Amino acid sequence: MLTNELQRNIKFVRGVGEKRAELFTRLGVTDVASLISLYPRTYEDWSAPVSVGSARAGETCCVRAFVVSPVTDTRISGGRRLSKLRISDGLFDMTVTYFNNPYISKKLKEGNEYLFYGKVTLGRMGREMISPTVSPVGETPAMKAVYPQTAGLNSGTISKVVANALELLKDKEIDPLPPSVREEYSLPEKHEALRMVHFPSNAAEAQEGSRRLAFEELLIFQLGLAKLRSGSLGKTGPDVNCEEKERFISSLDFPLTGAQRRAVDDICRDMSSGRVMNRLVQGDVGSGKTVVAAAAVYCAARSGFQTAFMAPTEILATQHSATFSRLFAPFGIRTALLIGSMTAAEKRKIKEGIILGIYDLVIGTHALITGDVEFRKLGLVVTDEQHRFGVSQRAALSAKGADPHLLVMSATPIPRTLSLILYGDLDISVIDELPPGRRPVRTYAVDTSYRERAYAYVRKHLDAGFKGYVICPLVEENENLDLVPAKEYCESLKNGPFKGYSVGLLHGKMKPKEKDSVMKEFAEGELQLLVATTVVEVGVDVPSAVIMLIENAERFGLSALHQLRGRVGRGGDQASCILISDASGDTAKQRIAIMTSTTDGFKIADEDLKMRGPGDFLGSRQHGIPMMQMTGRLSDGAAVRESSMLSKRMLGADPDLSSQANEGLRHEVERAFADARLTLN
Ligand code: ADP
Ligand code: MG
Repeated sequence: MLTNELQRNIKFVRGVGEKRAELFTRLGVTDVASLISLYPRTYEDWSAPVSVGSARAGETCCVRAFVVSPVTDTRISGGRRLSKLRISDGLFDMTVTYFNNPYISKKLKEGNEYLFYGKVTLGRMGREMISPTVSPVGETPAMKAVYPQTAGLNSGTISKVVANALELLKDKEIDPLPPSVREEYSLPEKHEALRMVHFPSNAAEAQEGSRRLAFEELLIFQLGLAKLRSGSLGKTGPDVNCEEKERFISSLDFPLTGAQRRAVDDICRDMSSGRVMNRLVQGDVGSGKTVVAAAAVYCAARSGFQTAFMAPTEILATQHSATFSRLFAPFGIRTALLIGSMTAAEKRKIKEGIILGIYDLVIGTHALITGDVEFRKLGLVVTDEQHRFGVSQRAALSAKGADPHLLVMSATPIPRTLSLILYGDLDISVIDELPPGRRPVRTYAVDTSYRERAYAYVRKHLDAGFKGYVICPLVEENENLDLVPAKEYCESLKNGPFKGYSVGLLHGKMKPKEKDSVMKEFAEGELQLLVATTVVEVGVDVPSAVIMLIENAERFGLSALHQLRGRVGRGGDQASCILISDASGDTAKQRIAIMTSTTDGFKIADEDLKMRGPGDFLGSRQHGIPMMQMTGRLSDGAAVRESSMLSKRMLGADPDLSSQANEGLRHEVERAFADARLTLN
């Protein structure tokens, strides 16, 4: 039995009063359990101090040195106090500076030896450290945890409080993993793992503790998904009649590929089974997922059900809205677009129409689930580009209607083992075939000395009547900083190599309406060249675009590059992609080499997994899975595979986890999935 000490308010922990408790709340910590799983962001490694002479500029390190000058205090502008001193290892000196630290002159004595931890920089006087943490030799643990902090609560304080909490839990049963499992996979006990993570004596120990905690997260996650799945298996779903689907399919300009057909069949079988559908359609960029979803929408509408269709961006929602309106025009299926950039009056009108059942299909961003939209008869929920949505959002979606069918589409190829984990509660259809006549995008990697020739190559395509993209060398489009360079870069193209051509700019800071009109102009109008940041990464479809040039290709991850490249070559014409990069680093080179050697998204995903580990795929930020904190830091896939096999084996032997040994695990699964269960079971 897990100890109920874990559920105690943190005020129960020594060192936490009213005030601190409130500060901890800001970090999401309210009880003992959340306190001990407030994991360090990183560690300061004090275990191997270096001499001043071997401290390299630009690196953060621990320097062991003697103070060889008195501390001089000066007042600078704004009444601030500047304290300076020199430290030395006997051969080399370094300046150390503190701002507004009145204690430093009392703390540091000339002639004594200390450890200084911080970033070494190169100043006018040679090596420098600004405000390093300092400690007398021998008084600091080898590894110091650095926690997520908030004003008034620093790492040192958090560390002390965590230590008290661990003390409190000593000898209490807090381990959800049965001893047999720990033994089989050589995992330390939970209390010990927590000690290793919060107070490691070296880097390897921190690693071992992390692995154990990640293993637990993964196991709980998979057991929970399996439970969700078995819960939804029995649920009755809207009764959708799919008999007329051929009418829609034969109205298309093209025959479906075999893989599309199989996906449509899977969906139709699910939707008419009487049970709720929970299906993921995974298909590479350009594999034609939209019409597959359209077939599902068609059948739902024919059977009198509304569909909510969510896209990750307003551009994409708008584009889908245009596509669906066109596809459904012959059938009288009524489509509405609901996005944030509409006026309040427009939105109100659409929402009224949705309640009244005037619309069969509503397309929008995920505001469709978070907002106050009410449906008359919601039967199907489709989410495009699922990788942007998390489990909890899926749950919220289902909560909107009386158990609608759920269709999830993803163009992010994920290695199979991982997709089984991330989407363990879904059935999967894979579209592993591109529409006929599609030619793989030719990809070239060049360095910046080829830039002019690359521009000429792009011009050649524009002259032949095609369209093209140039992806700016800017990744963080949320940063205001990047906006100016994007504009400037675009101007320089307009006035330079692309003078006389029609050039547009698309970036993340534009209002949705502006983005929309630029996209429209590019898709249907005059615009020949679109200079864009990664906002075009997802889903946007312009068949006449056949050339893409990506600046600073080394700054993009493999899957981003793959998604970007997928924007071209969506018609029947040969498309090309030019990756410009001067990067010399191994990983950058390797990524670019992979991009030039294959266009198969699943292969690229496998390589990505090999290069980066599963952390980025499973990390909590991307998938909104808060309990995957440690898993996001894994650097290899072993724990993923092991926990996956184990969860199957455990459920096979004890489907409800009702045995004595599994009691702790069952508790944790229920706790972790409490929210999802409310809506999904
Ligand atoms: P994605 O899977 O990336 O969402 P889309 O659904 O946008 O791909 O389809 C890409 C393009 O391929 C669209 O222009 C679509 O009309 C076209 N397409 C889809 N299916 C077929 C098919 N079976 N034959 C020919 N073209 C198709
Ligand atoms: Mg798509």
